[in-house]
Amino acid sequence: MPSRDVIPPAQRGCVLDPLGLTSEQAVEAAHALGMPRANALEAYKALLREGKTPPEVFAFTPPEVVRTLREESPEGEVIKFLVRVKGRDPSKGHESLAGKPLETESVLIPMVGSVRGLTYTLCVSSQVGCAMGCGFCETAQMGLIRSLTAAEIVGQWYAATHVVGVRPKNIVFMGMGEPMDNYEQVMQAVAVLKDHNGASVPISHVTISTVGRIDGLRRMREQIKQPTWHRLNLALSLNAPNDEVRDVLMPVNRRWKMEELQQELIDWPRFGGNKLCIEYVLIPGVNDSREHAAQVANFVRPLKSLVREGASGDEAADTRERAVVNVIPYNPRRSSPWPAPTEEQVNAFIGWLIEERVFVKRRRTKGRQMMGACGQLGNEQIRGRRLVDLTVSPSKVTND
Ligand code: SF4
Repeated sequence: MPSRDVIPPAQRGCVLDPLGLTSEQAVEAAHALGMPRANALEAYKALLREGKTPPEVFAFTPPEVVRTLREESPEGEVIKFLVRVKGRDPSKGHESLAGKPLETESVLIPMVGSVRGLTYTLCVSSQVGCAMGCGFCETAQMGLIRSLTAAEIVGQWYAATHVVGVRPKNIVFMGMGEPMDNYEQVMQAVAVLKDHNGASVPISHVTISTVGRIDGLRRMREQIKQPTWHRLNLALSLNAPNDEVRDVLMPVNRRWKMEELQQELIDWPRFGGNKLCIEYVLIPGVNDSREHAAQVANFVRPLKSLVREGASGDEAADTRERAVVNVIPYNPRRSSPWPAPTEEQVNAFIGWLIEERVFVKRRRTKGRQMMGACGQLGNEQIRGRRLVDLTVSPSKVTND
């Protein structure tokens, strides 16, 4: 589990926001303030499971949903909701959260399965804005405003479950922000979400999506070797067939090239047959040619035959397909220089990947009208900030 140091200093030794704490951490913190452990545990369970307000020893403020947008899709209603969070005030220090309030954006995406019928996947934000500057992404236009705390990330699950009234089956970190740029808080949020005394989301239903920050991937690789963390899923936002295209689309690639990224995925521990998701936003005229499909296949091919972590003999020689390429038709952001691909273009690209023997799925676009589709999250009112030069320092924000 991530260290307790992730508890913000301001919260240590006084009242604590239970949404940012595992049950063990919350019980210990409340006990230190004089509450019997058994009572603290009951209060924690009742809050996370039933949405019941806990006693005052916990500094709980219900997440405030300021806006909800709904749009029909063939599989059900897509629900985008915005939760108010504190703003950053640079004049009071880098960590100060006394500025103008901000909003996180989250999307509930309906999925119809043959066994469980209609379920929802919750796409959460890990930051307000993002520093990664991906050329196809609406959020990138905002720059990074600030990273969210674990409590604010879990607050999005709480809002979906107890305010909007939809308990999601899966959680994907694919909303605003790069999770590896806020690693400690994201992993603390996952620890809270998977806690059996609280939200109880199976860890195999949680996916962390990254642009490929190798430093973060190395930390996550160690984390998933820990007991109870093995099944945490990883998705890589690849979006390009080669370094030339990726350097332009995704500035992070100027720092960590595709070959290094590929090696990291080849070395990725394999537990329980979890698939690696390779996300590929298909942009006409940019990354959708026959040759590009062959290059994507070359990137993915070495990922499938690898040694299973901690196994030997036949098990170690497991060569099952382990990477799935998710083709996502581009959702044009505001003022986009590129259009959405046509059905023919999407089908052609998928066909080429299949010819190359790549395991491929197509992501259906949902929520496009309300800017809730993939790569479209971003609050227009707080845009216009400068981006960070990733080639120098990917985690430092110099713009205020
Ligand atoms: S695609 Fe993801 S990482 Fe890239 S700018 Fe958008 S939110 Fe950030």
